[in-house]
Amino acid sequence: MDGILLNKKIGIIGGGITGLIVGIFLAKEGHKVSIFEKNTLLSETSSKTTKLLHGGLRYLENFHFNEVKNGLNDRSWWLENFPDHTRKLKILIPFKNIFSLTLIKSFFGIKLYEFLAGAKNLGKSSISKQIKSDHFVLKDSYKTYLSFFDGSMDDESLGRELISLAKELNIEILEFNEVKNFDTQGAVNKRHFDKIILAVGPWSKMLLEQNKIKSQKDIDFIKGSHLIINRRLESGLMFSGICKSRYIFALPYKDHTLLGTTEEKVSHPEFPEISKDEMKYLVDSFNQILRKPISKNEIISAYSGVRPLIKSKENFHKSSRDFFIQENDSLLTIFGGKWTTSPTIARKIVTMI
Ligand SMILES: Cc1cc2nc3c(=O)[nH]c(=O)nc-3n(C[C@H](O)[C@H](O)[C@H](O)COP(=O)(O)OP(=O)(O)OC[C@H]3O[C@@H](n4cnc5c(N)ncnc54)[C@H](O)[C@@H]3O)c2cc1C
Repeated sequence: MDGILLNKKIGIIGGGITGLIVGIFLAKEGHKVSIFEKNTLLSETSSKTTKLLHGGLRYLENFHFNEVKNGLNDRSWWLENFPDHTRKLKILIPFKNIFSLTLIKSFFGIKLYEFLAGAKNLGKSSISKQIKSDHFVLKDSYKTYLSFFDGSMDDESLGRELISLAKELNIEILEFNEVKNFDTQGAVNKRHFDKIILAVGPWSKMLLEQNKIKSQKDIDFIKGSHLIINRRLESGLMFSGICKSRYIFALPYKDHTLLGTTEEKVSHPEFPEISKDEMKYLVDSFNQILRKPISKNEIISAYSGVRPLIKSKENFHKSSRDFFIQENDSLLTIFGGKWTTSPTIARKIVTMI
């Protein structure tokens, strides 16, 4: 089809991973993109993650197959396109008893995870004996490991690479530029665009309503916190927290260990901070499996972020990390999603535009 002019003026509100990746995909299609960011690029939720590129093994428990499949596809997109900032990571799940029902359930869950990844699977899972040489030696009662592979990222260096890619693609980056007013006809801060994309993570519903646009989705603000511990770890660990209702990851992070995360409902997304309870929960959960417990003075730092989860009828611990795009004339609003699945969101937006 000759004569189609792709070159549209697109205004993106929000410079987290979603806004940035959507901007990059659109600029590659020939559109003229501007990103308005109230702070600096990637400074909010997108810098507070567990740094995993994953389909989300645990989401299989709640039968979120589509979401897991998208995540597994995108995991391989990140690993192939940014090999200097991403890597394949071995993750071990420790068990006390080889004949436990949880081990059998987890084994079949991992096999399903590998099946959904298809040709993009990163390596074969296996069951093995506890490795004594591991730096974090587990209590003797943990005799068996189930291992599988997932992706992980250095989000700081990956973020820098994405920002320089955006600049190479002539994306106009407007930092410290909070948008208060926009409409469904293309107006943002007194400028006019052919399309506006609202990619403000946890702030989406709030901003729509401030501008008298009905939000089709409600948001649950779910805070998640992490600790950075001054110990080295060769492989990742995934284990049940003391509450037993969710998993915690301990992952190699530079020369240290990243421990997280929690899930705590909060009333707003501003300035999340780790609470004493969350800190205790993470430390106690980790110590329940370690032979040499971690002490308070091994904690180097902590950070917290607020997940923009689309409200569902389920308990929020079980709710989906899937995304939704609301369309109002020239305005597209993105709800939900994960760092990993931002390319799927971007592909969808490119098709819609
Ligand atoms: C604890 C935790 C762990 C996580 N772990 C993982 C993980 O391991 N792997 C994974 O794939 N995902 C993970 N996620 C999910 C992931 O972090 C988010 O899905 C993703 O970062 C959301 O990106 P975003 O761009 O939509 O939102 P954000 O990163 O929050 O970006 C939105 C941007 O909009 C800007 N903004 C807001 N209002 C305005 C305004 N009025 N004008 C201009 N700009 C505005 C904000 O400043 C912000 O920069 C985790 C999330 C949390 C909280």
